[in-house]
Amino acid sequence: MGVCLYLAPMKRVLGNNFTFAVLDDVWARQLRTEGIVGAKSAVAFHTWTVETGPVLDEIAEVWDQIDADLAKNEVPTAAGRLRRHLEYVAADLADELGAKVSFRADGGYDMGLLLSAVIGRQGELLKAAAKAAKSWGNKEQTDKIEALQKARTEILATQNGEQWIINKAVHYNEWADLSKNDFKPVVAVFKQLLQQFRCEKCNSWLSLTPRHDPVDLRCACGAFHLNLKEK
Ligand SMILES: [Zn+2]
Repeated sequence: MGVCLYLAPMKRVLGNNFTFAVLDDVWARQLRTEGIVGAKSAVAFHTWTVETGPVLDEIAEVWDQIDADLAKNEVPTAAGRLRRHLEYVAADLADELGAKVSFRADGGYDMGLLLSAVIGRQGELLKAAAKAAKSWGNKEQTDKIEALQKARTEILATQNGEQWIINKAVHYNEWADLSKNDFKPVVAVFKQLLQQFRCEKCNSWLSLTPRHDPVDLRCACGAFHLNLKEK
């Protein structure tokens, strides 16, 4: 309703000249999940600082920027960029995947807690998808899910396991003091971790549909699609 009330007067006032809108994340997300705005026609600015400039929800760009920072030996800048990206993505994924975290009225969710909830939820969803595929006798889907589960386990086992990843996320204030070579594996593991939640084709984040009692885990283009409903 909020989006309708916004779009209707925009159409009346601007007509076909309405081509660009700046919205807060709730409305922007709604336009994206309803398919009104495609992944390619939306850019999310989630923060801005003097050191990093605007940080966009554009994974390729974020990782390229981090690599460029590291090439210049600017670990604190790269660390700031990675932290902001993770904060944004962890919250977004927790929302999109229905991860369970204790509610906080002040919205002050800890990034480590969010990431851990997202990782846990990913495991649950893959398990549900595997069960559904088995119930339908869908061998192709079963193999696909097994490959995803294997990749997930491997990523969580890199370095010293899942706890290492979460600890790194929690103690991000220590990143800036790391040497370039110590920080690189941190970047690599988070990049791998987050890539799993994104479609290789359309680059959109995976989400559940419908949000309540979901039957699908999918990306925007449908190239990534897992059925969650058993026979
Ligand atoms: Zn896709």
